[in-house]
Formats: sequence, structure tokens, C-alpha cells
Amino acid sequence: MSAPEPEILLGKLTRREFRERMASGELAGCLIPVAAIEQHLEHMAMEHDWRSVGLVTRAVAKRLAPRVLVTEGLMCGISEHHMRHPGTLTLSPGTFLAVLGDMIDSMVRAGFRNIIVVNGHGGNIKPVRGTWDQFLRRFEGVNLHFLSYWDTLGQADADELLQGAKRMPDDLPGHAQEFETSIALAKFPENVRAGAVADQTDPNPGLATAEQGEEWFERITQRLAKFVGEVIDGGRQSETPPFHP
Ligand SMILES: [Zn+2]
Repeated sequence: MSAPEPEILLGKLTRREFRERMASGELAGCLIPVAAIEQHLEHMAMEHDWRSVGLVTRAVAKRLAPRVLVTEGLMCGISEHHMRHPGTLTLSPGTFLAVLGDMIDSMVRAGFRNIIVVNGHGGNIKPVRGTWDQFLRRFEGVNLHFLSYWDTLGQADADELLQGAKRMPDDLPGHAQEFETSIALAKFPENVRAGAVADQTDPNPGLATAEQGEEWFERITQRLAKFVGEVIDGGRQSETPPFHP
């Protein structure tokens, strides 16, 4: 019988288990996923961004087990631009940034010095990027990173895998189009209503396939695991911005 897989989710550990793993030096970093629950056109469930970034971060933590934990993060994001479609949840930017800061602070106080915030929703990017210097100053001494999971992909990937338009970021990641729909078809197909794909002006989601989604997921998790590996091994350091003299 093989040994049980090490737990990768913070919330599944008891306080003793967490304490002992941190004290042993085994835990080298944590991933904080952030996303959105928002409309994803007519054919995809609103949880898409949260579900996808959750799966990506878990897959990365598994690849790096037992050194990395996933802190269940922020399922709700900055989605004011989608509020015309009822059901979308949104946080105001100040709320989102305050909660994200408190979550990072909690993980710093738990002992983590390598923390990667992994984003799954486009609307979160500008507010986080615009204030990231302030996070780096507040958590000086922590190797702290923010990236969206599709930042691991480039134009060459878009050219190779997308069947329709290949612009970045309009089509990769896009919004509920070929890229996101492919990942859903590969990993959580129950979220895609095949009969509704054609019920909208944009024909792009109709090009999505599960095979394409599997390939996206493999590339993303492999490259993100490399990025996180470099962070926890010290090969990739965030830099505190200088203060004015
Ligand atoms: Zn999305």
C-alpha cells in the first residue's frame, strides 16, 4: 500500500497538522487563488473563474507536494462591468484589496515567506497591479507574487491551439469564449450548456473542444508549477519598491 497523498488544501488540515508541517520546514509556500462568480455568457455556469483557478492551483500544489498549500482564497472578484447580468457577484475594489491584504497577512503570520496570488478573473488585474507596490511594501521581506494563470501562455500558444481569433487578451483568455469554454469542457463539462452555445452573437465558444481544454490545462499547470518552484526555491524574488530618499 502506498502512503496517502499529502494534503494540499489549508482548510483540510487541523491546526496541529498545519503547525507540525510548518515547523518541520516542509511547507515552502502557499497559493492564494482569487477569481469571480459572474456571468459567463448564455452557456457557461457563473462559477467558471473560481472553479478553473481552484483546479489550476490544486494541480500545481499536487505537482509540488508536499511543499505548497492552497489557501482557499477569494471566490468573488471585481465584476462591476458584468452587473447588467443579474446573478453576478461583485466586490468594490477597496473591499477586494482589503480582504486580499488580510489573507496575505494571515499567511505571513502563519509563517509563509513565499506567497503567490493566482488570479482567474480579468477584472481583478488592474486594481491589483495598480496597488501592488503597496502590497510589496506592506509585506517587505516576503517573496510575494501576483499573476493570472493565463500569464503562463503566450502568442505562440494562441496561434497553435485556438481555432478562431487569436488576439491576446481578447481571445486568450477572452471571456467565456473558445479558451475558457474548452477548459470547462475538459475539466467540468457539467458547467457547459451545449444547447445554449449558439444562443448568442459571438460564435467563438462553438469552436471549443475538450481536447483543446486538456492541452491548455496541461500547459498552464506545468508552467505555473515551474514558476512556483522557482519562487519557493529562491530563484525568483519579488523586489520591494524603493522609498523616496
Ligand atoms: Zn471567466
